[in-house]
Amino acid sequence: MRVMKFGGTSVGNAESIQAVCAIVRSALKARPVVVVSAVAGVTNALIKLAKTTSATERVRAQKGIRRTHEKILKDLRLDPTLLENEFNELADLSKKTKKQDKKTLDHFVSFGERLSAQIVGAALQKMGVSSEALPAWEIGMITNDEFGDATPLPASPALIKKKISALKVVPVVTGYIGKTRKGRITTLGRGGSDYTAAIIGAAIHAEVIQIWKEVDGFMTTDPRLVPEARIVPELAFEEASELAYFGAKVLHPRTMLPAMKAGVPVQILNTFNPKEKGTMIVSNFNERKKSSRVIDALTYRKNITVIHIYSPMFFDGNKIIADIFDLFGDYNVNIGDIALSVASVSLVMDSNEPLPRQVRSGLQKMGDVTIDTRKAAICVVGGSINTAGVAGRMFSVLEKNRIHVEMIAQASAGYSITFLVKKKDAEKAVKMLHKAYISV
Ligand code: ADP
Ligand code: ASP
Ligand code: MG
Repeated sequence: MRVMKFGGTSVGNAESIQAVCAIVRSALKARPVVVVSAVAGVTNALIKLAKTTSATERVRAQKGIRRTHEKILKDLRLDPTLLENEFNELADLSKKTKKQDKKTLDHFVSFGERLSAQIVGAALQKMGVSSEALPAWEIGMITNDEFGDATPLPASPALIKKKISALKVVPVVTGYIGKTRKGRITTLGRGGSDYTAAIIGAAIHAEVIQIWKEVDGFMTTDPRLVPEARIVPELAFEEASELAYFGAKVLHPRTMLPAMKAGVPVQILNTFNPKEKGTMIVSNFNERKKSSRVIDALTYRKNITVIHIYSPMFFDGNKIIADIFDLFGDYNVNIGDIALSVASVSLVMDSNEPLPRQVRSGLQKMGDVTIDTRKAAICVVGGSINTAGVAGRMFSVLEKNRIHVEMIAQASAGYSITFLVKKKDAEKAVKMLHKAYISV
């Protein structure tokens, strides 16, 4: 079987939905499981709707969402009443909702994928492909109750496998959403449809998880920043995962984990240019190394916080490090990178949100703490990135242009280097390195 996930732009209007259906139809032999995002812009519109308190604004926002979908139905000549149940449920929810907690927000945003899946299912049907739109919870996507950033429960993959194997038609599954055991709707974090595709692909041991987008593949860097960016034909799981974590918007950062564990390759392809080979993400970094360049791709992330802790206690050994990790773990705060010296530790947190009060006061008991939100992380991957002299030359390119580099971390397996620069220098640094190593 094959998982085929289509992003928001790919299902953004009637014409692109027709392109999606043609791609699915040509892959019927591979027994596709289709996963879809919401129509482009709809998730944002739903978040806005959920957050407005004015009743007239709410009605207006709903009308906008309805219009977007009705236009697609009309252009595709589908039944104009296809989405009435969802529209009514959304209207009900808008009328009833008073408080705006994460639970309610997840209920609101779930409509994006529930609407788009119905449309794609019906469009396939109209093309003569037997298909059925299914909310992810009906195929076993059961998650924990971390609303807004949920994770599937360990029991979920077996359930998914069972449900999918029993289907006789092409399923069009909603990305991004799931339900708790108690039946509350959850979401897997923004951009989470990629993650849905990976979870399903791993559960059914698919031959490949295809992520169809509006770009030709995983590019050497964000093409909006560097128009000369090129497709990277092949990446290893670890590299893609590192790039996604450090800001490459092309994939949801948690996508690689299930795929990696199950050994299912992930392919990035372009809905609007399906002949292009795209990017294959595979498990053989050592194999890949031979074909790679010094730098294959790079990215940056601005929403990070760097915390430095200085303390004489560090001279006494590792206990304090363990205490720091426990403290972060107790309050569910992720640590991305860590650098140690004899008397200090520096941590990179993958968010710009203020540290929970308890974490901050806990750290202050251990030593002098400074918190820096003015840095960006840059992540560079490539097969020879860790050979002698490469990092040195890279940093001298930057230093020559007065971009100061700090907290350099190298992945032990040798596929990446990450470091920090001032936020205001991040784009400049990426452009400069791209020019020096990739566009040449
Ligand atoms: P989708 O709706 O298919 O999930 P997204 O909008 O989430 O698509 O992501 C696609 C965008 O990510 C592209 O338009 C591109 O500008 C951006 N992007 C950032 N970094 C990269 C990269 N390294 N390779 C490809 N695209 C990237
Ligand atoms: N529709 C969701 C979002 O915009 C999930 C996704 O597109 O992957 O974040
Ligand atoms: Mg996306």
